[in-house]
Amino acid sequence: MQHFPVFLDLRGQTALLLGSGEQAEAKATLLAAAGAAIRRADSFTPALLDGIVLAIGAGTAEAELVALAAACRARGIPVNVVDRPALCSALLPAIIDRAPMTIAVSSGGAAPVLARLVRQKIEAVLPPGLGLIAALAERWKAAIRQRLPALGPRRRFLEQVLEGEPSRRAAAGDAAGADRAMAAALASAEERPRGMVHLVGAGPGAGDLLTLRALRLLGEADVIVHDRLGCEDALGMARRDAERIFVGKRRGDHCLPQDGINALLVRLAREGKRVVRLKGGDPLIFGRGGEEAEALAAAGIPCEVVPGVTAALACAAGAGIPLTHRDAARAVTFVTGHRREGGVDLAGLVQPGVTLAIYMGIAMLRPIHDALLAGGMSPAMPAAVIERGGTPGQRVLRGTLAEMLAQAPGWVTEGPALLLVGEAVGRATPAWASAA
Ligand code: SAH
Repeated sequence: MQHFPVFLDLRGQTALLLGSGEQAEAKATLLAAAGAAIRRADSFTPALLDGIVLAIGAGTAEAELVALAAACRARGIPVNVVDRPALCSALLPAIIDRAPMTIAVSSGGAAPVLARLVRQKIEAVLPPGLGLIAALAERWKAAIRQRLPALGPRRRFLEQVLEGEPSRRAAAGDAAGADRAMAAALASAEERPRGMVHLVGAGPGAGDLLTLRALRLLGEADVIVHDRLGCEDALGMARRDAERIFVGKRRGDHCLPQDGINALLVRLAREGKRVVRLKGGDPLIFGRGGEEAEALAAAGIPCEVVPGVTAALACAAGAGIPLTHRDAARAVTFVTGHRREGGVDLAGLVQPGVTLAIYMGIAMLRPIHDALLAGGMSPAMPAAVIERGGTPGQRVLRGTLAEMLAQAPGWVTEGPALLLVGEAVGRATPAWASAA
């Protein structure tokens, strides 16, 4: 971290403003809004620093600004000289003022315009009436703390009411209604933490293909139990102090066996934690989400599934391949090329007008190819292998089924990779492939 962010309470304090002009006036307005008394001067003398807690310089001679900065540093007084990062010990961020809520953004002086753009983006997603909502929380702070002394249940309660009826009323300016709704919610609040598990799909591995619900749950989780595949971006967006437990599943290399994962989820939920079980793609497609949901149900633990963009959809979009097409495919089948019992059983799936999306198939290409041919498929059937589909590292190999067999094993690098086969694969329009 380049700078330590801090918010100053300037009410009843004095700040020095050295200089004049448009920028100095803007800072004077800000200081006044924060309740500071302002001492103003155009040239620097050391006595100006007596009793001040902050100094700002703008719009006066260079020598005055340099003297101000040096004297402040010597006396440990935070100083900001507008547009002169080298002279600053304190930076003034771009701010959003929704008192009592203040949001500040700084680029550390590197790119103030960028900081302002970021501020605009934040502003666009803030709920209206944010200040009123924060004021509601402040009014109820003591009562909530008294009723819910334990941190976990209190935080959960606040998250609920701050996105629920009380805050909607507060934001609409109905403070009395907001207080009534808050009182009702508090009366029925649960004191005991109640654990639950969310089976969350992380999508193919690109952060911007997460669902908004996944993003919210990642921000609320106490603990995240995750795989390797597709989870990095999502983990980067999770609550910073959430515990992260890697149970890395790779084919044939289970860091924790499935029973152990099930038991872990049950134990964490019983401790009252909000658990996010994060899985690549969609949790219910070759992700063993079903087995985990069964284990949780058997243990009486509430469980919610949040769908994710599964590899077949991400790969098709990324490679510009229609999975169905009125002239070429009326069905699409998601199938694994890897069975628990070993062997592949794909011949029965070969039908005209069906696109096959074969997961976990690259290591099994020869038996897959043979099974498809045994089912009557032509070796000239259009096919594609997509590696890391839907992510910035996506690669696409196009050709026929026979070509995939010959080329894909040497072509795939780290994976993961998916095989798509069928007439519709020949209808690829790479031009509309999404820019990953
Ligand atoms: N639940 C996941 C699938 C897990 S099985 C989902 O819905 O996508 C693991 C297999 O999924 C891999 O062997 C590979 O075939 C496929 N896969 C997962 N992510 C992929 C990606 N980004 N690109 C291509 N294939 C992927």
